[in-house]
Amino acid sequence: MRYAHVVVDIPTRALEGAFDYSVPDELARDVEVGSTVLVNFSRRPSVGYVVALTERPASGVPASKIRPVLQVLAPSAFDLGAARVASWMAREYACPPCEAIRPFLAPGQLVKIRREDDASPWQLVCEKSGPVDDRWVCLSEDGKRYEPRGNASRQRAVLDALSAGPVRMAELAATINGAAKVVAALERRGAVTVETRRRVRGSGETTLSSAVAPRPQRLTDGQREALSAIGKAREAGRGDVVLVDGVTGSGKTEVYLAAIEQTLEEGKGALVLVPEISLTAQTVGRFRSRFGDDVAVLHSRLSVGERYDQWDLVRQGLAHVVVGARSALFAPLANVGLIIIDEEHEGSYKQGQSPRYHARELACRMARERGCALVLGSATPSIESLARCRAGEWGGVRWTRVSMPERPGSSVLPTVQVVDMTQQFGSGNHSIFSDPLKKALEGVIERREKAVLLLNRRGFATFLMCRECGCVPECPHCSTSLTYHERTSQLVCHSCGQTWPTVAYPNPATQCPNCGSRYMGAFGIGTQRVEDELALILGDRAEIIRMDADTTSEKGGHQRLLERFDAAECAVLVGTQMIAKGLDFPEVTLVGVINADTTLKLPDFRAGERTYDLLEQVAGRAGRGDRPGRVIIQTYWAEHPAIQAVARHDRQMFLMSELAEREDAYYPPYARLANVVATGRDVRAVTMAMDDLAASLRKRLAGEREWEVLGPADCLKSRIKDRVRRHVMVKAPAPANMGVVVGGCVRDLGRRPGVSIAVDIDCHDLM
Ligand code: ADP
Ligand code: ZN
Ligand code: ZN
Repeated sequence: MRYAHVVVDIPTRALEGAFDYSVPDELARDVEVGSTVLVNFSRRPSVGYVVALTERPASGVPASKIRPVLQVLAPSAFDLGAARVASWMAREYACPPCEAIRPFLAPGQLVKIRREDDASPWQLVCEKSGPVDDRWVCLSEDGKRYEPRGNASRQRAVLDALSAGPVRMAELAATINGAAKVVAALERRGAVTVETRRRVRGSGETTLSSAVAPRPQRLTDGQREALSAIGKAREAGRGDVVLVDGVTGSGKTEVYLAAIEQTLEEGKGALVLVPEISLTAQTVGRFRSRFGDDVAVLHSRLSVGERYDQWDLVRQGLAHVVVGARSALFAPLANVGLIIIDEEHEGSYKQGQSPRYHARELACRMARERGCALVLGSATPSIESLARCRAGEWGGVRWTRVSMPERPGSSVLPTVQVVDMTQQFGSGNHSIFSDPLKKALEGVIERREKAVLLLNRRGFATFLMCRECGCVPECPHCSTSLTYHERTSQLVCHSCGQTWPTVAYPNPATQCPNCGSRYMGAFGIGTQRVEDELALILGDRAEIIRMDADTTSEKGGHQRLLERFDAAECAVLVGTQMIAKGLDFPEVTLVGVINADTTLKLPDFRAGERTYDLLEQVAGRAGRGDRPGRVIIQTYWAEHPAIQAVARHDRQMFLMSELAEREDAYYPPYARLANVVATGRDVRAVTMAMDDLAASLRKRLAGEREWEVLGPADCLKSRIKDRVRRHVMVKAPAPANMGVVVGGCVRDLGRRPGVSIAVDIDCHDLM
């Protein structure tokens, strides 16, 4: 008799581990590690996942007391190594074990079962995603000589359509009337054959001219050094990390491609993570152009069916390179030889919902589990990664930094000019555009080049503000300032999404809700306004393309705009953060930052780092071709180290001041930081839960001098959708096992009706 270790899918912190079930002989072949099974738990049929198989029950319960696995609901989706990583994730991030396993399951699989009647077997309910077959019609050898009768014009049309190769039935049906009947007749005569082929969704084509990766004649010194370090890490086979610290355009992608090539030659596969936002056809195209159909793509903008097909390609061993967002880490790739995280500093690698893992940390763990190498790439590595490389070792593996300070060939880093906007204002220029930026734009138009303008919008959008008392209207359900959308004259809450026509807020909106003044004006700027003002300056001398959440909300919208920018003769791309990354257009010679400092004002210890990263990244979009690039940064805070460091291409300058501040305030990388947030409608219940948690943490950590418990306090966003939010923060020494301590205290709180509690270890979102 064999036994299965099963994690039951009941998302509660009270259930800590896996439970033993016996495997009946008739299921012995189908119950594997990674299978989804049906078991009885507390006398109710429940979904569970097999995380291990053993010869005897692990828990020491007498075999006679152990219940059987009832049914297999889905075939294996993960292996033993993945199961171990999931178990680590549950402990490290204090989440229920089943939530740590779910990301490994087939896309579309839900935790729902149903059956026709009491006698039938149970079935998993899945989102519509199963395989899709297409019927293809091909011309047979006989068909090539087949002569339809003179009046059989539709037969002729079908044969014509097939002369260049097989065509999908659906396509024939769409173009030729009654195609199905005609094909059936031709099939009877042996002129055509019809075959069923599995359709692979999500492998879309790209038309961007820059989406190919021509193999360079020779690698730069930096690239060779990086490759050799990666080679050593692969040989060591214990999860060593190589940080490729290369300025934008230094050829990091080429390093990835070469390292993947070597990995494939060894018969192993590679996982490549790219921030969701830069996972464009351009990025994917560069990998496809080198590895063709060996590439599977996984990200959240694909439909469930597309994700399922791409995932299944990997599981079947038909694709060995997975390019995707952070969730690509969970792809069922056998024999992982290399994991790559591009733009490793990106905030989007931190998952916002349970399991709240950070892709970098999860990848570290996986690389150790698989004995493969982990490559982190960035022009602005995270302060955490830099600190580990300086130590040379972290978490039992080696951390090596390789620097690539130059761009290949003639391309040089752009010159950077900082423009102090208070001086512009003082000298009478009240426009969004400073005089130097206007002049530079004129130059771009004259030379028929391209420019990119960044509007730094995180945090500050357009507000309706009272000119007399400074009041900004807030959402009545969330403590969020409402933003003002000029085109539609609407006020929008970006926490809950509710909108108000300006005339209805709070009564007539022209009146301040605080002092009754009638001088309510729009303050701050949106991409829309930049676009409008730009149009006044440029007229029709250049195409203006706006890229923000509004213009890219449709599927493929992001890519269509990039294609337009690519195809234009002379154009200006105006956009938010999303334009800062990954764009590689050689004709871009000017980058303008409209407002560099807005992110500096956010109440977050990473504000300086994020601003520095953003400016450095967007600056790297200029001058990637033969013509030199120029960057103009407009700011009201010209002397801030983050801005000065970008202007001088001197990261060290920023790091020095930033690290001193972090050490002083005991923040990462000197400490770990966790945030526990309670939300609920009942203020008293929420308050009590957080009071109890803080007390329990303080008791548990009494005498631990390096641990700190902060709060409880209201969150910065103290209300969202009519729910109040309070939080407790915990600081711990960097190597501490924080998830176990914080998770343990949260578990001890027990069930709190009406209060939901989110534990965020190594939190990035402090709001
Ligand atoms: P990064 O990813 O570091 O921003 P890319 O990999 O996009 O940089 O490279 C920038 C440009 O340089 C690309 O157009 C790429 O094809 C080219 N390139 C990369 N490596 C070399 C090389 N060794 N020789 C010549 N051109 C190269
Ligand atoms: Zn007012
Ligand atoms: Zn709201």
